[in-house]
Amino acid sequence: MLESLLAIIAGLLIGSFLNVCIYRMPRDLSVVRPRSFCPACEHPIAWYDNIPVVSYFVLRGRCRHCGARIPVRYVIVELLTAALFFLIVTALGLTAPAAKLCLLTALLVGLTFADLEERILPDEFTLGGTAIGLVLAYFVPVDDVIAHIVLPGLGFHLSPQWLSVAESVLGAAAPAGSLWLGGFLFEKIRHKEGLGLGDVKMMAMFGAFLGLRATLLTLILGSVAGSILGLIYIRITRKDAATYQLPFGTFLGFAGIFVALAGEKVIHWYVGLL
Ligand SMILES: [Zn+2]
Repeated sequence: MLESLLAIIAGLLIGSFLNVCIYRMPRDLSVVRPRSFCPACEHPIAWYDNIPVVSYFVLRGRCRHCGARIPVRYVIVELLTAALFFLIVTALGLTAPAAKLCLLTALLVGLTFADLEERILPDEFTLGGTAIGLVLAYFVPVDDVIAHIVLPGLGFHLSPQWLSVAESVLGAAAPAGSLWLGGFLFEKIRHKEGLGLGDVKMMAMFGAFLGLRATLLTLILGSVAGSILGLIYIRITRKDAATYQLPFGTFLGFAGIFVALAGEKVIHWYVGLL
């Protein structure tokens, strides 16, 4: 109960920080300084106007000084992060695997909305996240079996910690490599960019956290959802299919969150309650 409450508060605060990142990273601004300001009038935002979710409703979605609309994205990101942290901690407790999963889902939420709004997947999240995922693999096991089967067969006998790191390296390198190759061939054949390098780096980050199998599943789910919903969106809005840039990272992000919760047995735990 107390754990779940802590998870919600942590989720709201981290969601609030993700909002800062989503606005500032694509603009190459520091996420630490200056303090929060209104993008429209650049007036600094007082702490009491900067409370996650609450301030948005108190201010009725407008800046106190200039009345500019505050994007509803701020509330959605805060509530979504809090909900994910709540689900994870309630299912797994305040444990190391729960903390790692919270970090991964927070990175995915940040990437999902940065891509949707700015069509950018910041390197701080993708490459920075890959590095963190590789290091964390030593301390929290990556739940995959590929390296566990392949490496002993090749005569390599590693400790459980290093086998976990091997799963992480494999998860980061293999899907990212094949995505890069696919994008490279697509460009050679159609002479335009199909997949952004950001998507490739994003999947490397995901693979470093969860290994190869979960990454392939995310790629399949994200591609199918992206193709179907993207086509429907283009039909409805009558946008030009040749020039419309689909936020593929957004679909990968939602698919990744689903696979992460299912793979780490969070969803199993809730289904078991029914
Ligand atoms: Zn303002």
